[in-house]
Order: sequence, then structure tokens, then C-alpha cells
Amino acid sequence: MHELAIGKSILRLAVDRATAAGRTRVTAIDLVVGELRNLEAPTLQRYFDHISAGSIAEGAVLRVTRAPARFTCATCGEPSPAIVCGPCGGAPCTLVGGREMLVERLEVA
Ligand SMILES: [Zn+2]
Repeated sequence: MHELAIGKSILRLAVDRATAAGRTRVTAIDLVVGELRNLEAPTLQRYFDHISAGSIAEGAVLRVTRAPARFTCATCGEPSPAIVCGPCGGAPCTLVGGREMLVERLEVA
């Protein structure tokens, strides 16, 4: 259900942008999805195929790039890949990336 809601947002955005640009076909959509988002790319594609049927984005391929989780340490200010700071051991670090869900690029015809 989660993927269905995301699929609907992606479809709406893709159709809006392509239409605004005077395009009549969306062939691929590049997405950036944070690794902390619980998202199944094949499930998303399956839902998308279903809800995009009959639209200008019918048959578009979703290409998902996962973005890694990123933190910033509240103690020393250094970036850290984990909740406990690598350089100084401070915790908890502040989450600054890894939950994004972005439409990065559309391929249109
Ligand atoms: Zn630190």
C-alpha cells in the first residue's frame, strides 16, 4: 500500500511535468530513494504499471538509485555514516539523509 501511494505521487508528478513541457510520452523515471525508506522497487514498478495504464506514462521504467543514510555529529560537527560518530564517538548523530524520495529525472518523448 505504501508503494501504491508513492507510485501515485510519482505518476502525478511525471505527467504534470511532461505535460507542462509539451511532451506526450514518459518513457523512464529516475528516482532517488534513501536507504532508510522501506521501499521495494519491484513492487513499486508493478503498482506503477497498473496505475499508469492509459496515461502518457504507461510503460515507463522506474530506475531507482538508493541514497545512503547520512548523519552529522552534534558534538564535533563531522559527517558520519552511522548514528554513533566515527571520529569522536559522540551519539546520537543527527540524521541528514537517507529518507529522501525524489524524482530526479524524466525521460520523455
Ligand atoms: Zn563527532
